[in-house]
Amino acid sequence: MEIQPAHVACVVGGGIAGSEAVARLVERKIHSVVFEMEALPYGKIELGLPKWHAKQRDQEEHKIDENLDSPYVQYVPSTQLGVDVSLEELRSWGFSVILLALGAWRDRPLAIPGIDEFQGRGFYYQNPFVAWFNRCHEPDFEGEPIELCDSAVVIGGGLASIDVVKILMLSLTQKALREKGLQVDLLTMEKKGIPRTLESLGISWEELRLKGCTLYYRRRAEDMPLVPMEGPSDPTKESRAKQVRQKVLDNARAKYLFNFKPCRLPVEFLAEGNRLTGLVFQKTSVLWIVFHVAVWQRTGEIKGQCTGYYFFFILFNGDEFVPVRWIIFRIILAVESQIFAAGLADQACADDQFITVE
Ligand SMILES: Cc1cc2nc3c(=O)[nH]c(=O)nc-3n(C[C@H](O)[C@H](O)[C@H](O)COP(=O)(O)OP(=O)(O)OC[C@H]3O[C@@H](n4cnc5c(N)ncnc54)[C@H](O)[C@@H]3O)c2cc1C
Repeated sequence: MEIQPAHVACVVGGGIAGSEAVARLVERKIHSVVFEMEALPYGKIELGLPKWHAKQRDQEEHKIDENLDSPYVQYVPSTQLGVDVSLEELRSWGFSVILLALGAWRDRPLAIPGIDEFQGRGFYYQNPFVAWFNRCHEPDFEGEPIELCDSAVVIGGGLASIDVVKILMLSLTQKALREKGLQVDLLTMEKKGIPRTLESLGISWEELRLKGCTLYYRRRAEDMPLVPMEGPSDPTKESRAKQVRQKVLDNARAKYLFNFKPCRLPVEFLAEGNRLTGLVFQKTSVLWIVFHVAVWQRTGEIKGQCTGYYFFFILFNGDEFVPVRWIIFRIILAVESQIFAAGLADQACADDQFITVE
């Protein structure tokens, strides 16, 4: 075996990123050592993708296996950087390069002070929740149990939030059917959807007496990042992306029967003892802000330098003009011409509060 003796690489993390980096090194006949904190590599593919993505997961895991299965690669399982080995130690071992391919495991915190105290007691972040769902059926699973309850509240708006509501709705439906003596396979139900599954069993949704979980999003359905807005801003593409987003949500709701509340921002929590029992939401509205007419120019002449302008802000609520909301606003811009631009802003309306209790 020919080895490029000048280099030995250290790769931390055996997910897609780590294993692809290793493959590029192998192409160059460079030896690498892969440290992975879990017994198996795969990362998000194994624990982050909900288990119904079986085909995609198998394909990706097979690719990772191929990348790591090389005489140029030394795989070191169950070794966590920062716990079993420090970065200083790794650096002192003389690797040519250390590549950190640790993934993104920290969920974006929910911005309500104190709410993290309730983690595991009525409050869960997406990453550990999906990892639990993927592994809870394993006989040797040692993680904390999670009891899924009806009427759960899900905060989010991206694809991961759709996965979470699907996990809840499928699991709750499966449990309700089991209580009626009917066994259904969750992965089959994921494919068929809940209405078709119930139809084939001759039972109605109402008979299950489930309220279903509710997805709360701070903006509108059409703003949900369910499909990316590609390339530079283009009104046609933008309008198409909005339609597709709405359709993705509508299809998911039709298939998994969850509730959806747009324009809701969680601002406070409700607790009983050490358990989180509910959230207080504020209603939000999406405003179109149009930078309109430059009415006053400080210098009176264009000099090719920073010039002060006054602008009127015309505020629209959705597509409707809101006449009471005229604001005069001073802004300094490093441009000479009149400006016409549009943007989106969330506005919290404190007078329209409501409470949702889990
Ligand atoms: C619900 C969901 C759906 C998705 N759907 C798609 C999709 O359809 N298409 C797509 O392309 N992508 C999808 N993704 C994203 C894709 O799965 C990830 O982007 C990708 O797997 C990330 O790979 P990674 O190697 O960067 O990180 P990870 O997969 O997170 O790998 C990082 C590895 O590092 C290890 N590690 C972390 N910290 C340490 C440490 N301190 N010491 C040692 N090891 C450590 C972890 O155990 C893990 O094995 C989805 C993700 C999720 C969660």
